[in-house]
Amino acid sequence: MSQALPVTWVRVTDVERITPATARIGFTADELPGLLEDRPDQQLKLCLPRAGQTVPRLPEPEPEPDADDPYGMRWYEAFLAIPEAERPWMRSFTVRSYDRRRNVMTVDFVLHGDGGPASRWGAAARAGDVLGMVGPSSLYARPLPAARRMLLAGDETALPAIATVLEALPAGTAAVVFAEVAEAEEERELPSAAGGSEVRWVHRDRGGSLVAAVREAGPELDGVDAAWVAGESSAVRALRRHLVEERRLPRAAVEFSGYWRRALTQDDAPTEEDLAWAAERAADAP
Ligand SMILES: Cc1cc2nc3c(=O)[nH]c(=O)nc-3n(C[C@H](O)[C@H](O)[C@H](O)COP(=O)(O)OP(=O)(O)OC[C@H]3O[C@@H](n4cnc5c(N)ncnc54)[C@H](O)[C@@H]3O)c2cc1C
Repeated sequence: MSQALPVTWVRVTDVERITPATARIGFTADELPGLLEDRPDQQLKLCLPRAGQTVPRLPEPEPEPDADDPYGMRWYEAFLAIPEAERPWMRSFTVRSYDRRRNVMTVDFVLHGDGGPASRWGAAARAGDVLGMVGPSSLYARPLPAARRMLLAGDETALPAIATVLEALPAGTAAVVFAEVAEAEEERELPSAAGGSEVRWVHRDRGGSLVAAVREAGPELDGVDAAWVAGESSAVRALRRHLVEERRLPRAAVEFSGYWRRALTQDDAPTEEDLAWAAERAADAP
């Protein structure tokens, strides 16, 4: 049975700068559909106002589940039907936490500069601001690969997802995290539920890179039997190649996602390389 993808208004409750370049933004709504307190890596799309708008224009929600629309994509047709000048900027994010008692979800925004509408909005966000939200939905939930020792690797954009995965690790699964950040001030607590995690921070201002750190890693990767990798697309692809071809992890044991593309926005069309990797990712899906 198909599910309609929820499209809702969300209102900012509070804003906290958890690091110099990360704003943790709390959102509430009359109803926050599709959210679960304990599911890791819940992804959603936020709709941001265009210049001159105080609130974004939203696509109409899908009225009912529709058997002819198994992935709940009707909302996207409605989104594209909004004239371009009024169509909201839409960007992907991760639910960092959801407090059912307060009915507040938090999202961590990486403030990478004024060049992106989401980063610009996040830097100026204030309580009372209103955005649109599409999702999250269990339709797009991907199960974590089963593992005894899991590698989690990513940059700042992946840290919210990595944190929720660590919090949800089952007993008996250890984790090793490789996290690339701009500088030491961008580090944050990454506790794991199962207790057995190690975190290796990689600092760009000291010349570090995620790809080099994982490639050069020694015994800390011994026994790793699954990996979850996200962040800048070319780094994710290089890491996936390294893990499969050199460290001999089964392809299906490496979950990977390009979260952003250097010099391209989320509105830009997929490149041929993006499409080839999307097809490979679909083919590897369990
Ligand atoms: C499933 C998923 C979950 C995600 N979760 C999060 C999350 O929880 N928090 C979060 O902050 N991001 C997250 N991202 C990444 C976020 O969607 C992108 O970084 C997005 O491009 C930000 O939009 P923007 O409007 O700021 O920039 P865009 O308009 O998309 O891009 C403008 C320019 O900024 C550059 N750029 C974009 N992102 C970055 C960056 N991080 N660092 C440096 N330059 C950048 C682009 O290359 C481009 O040149 C997620 C992405 C996906 C696909």
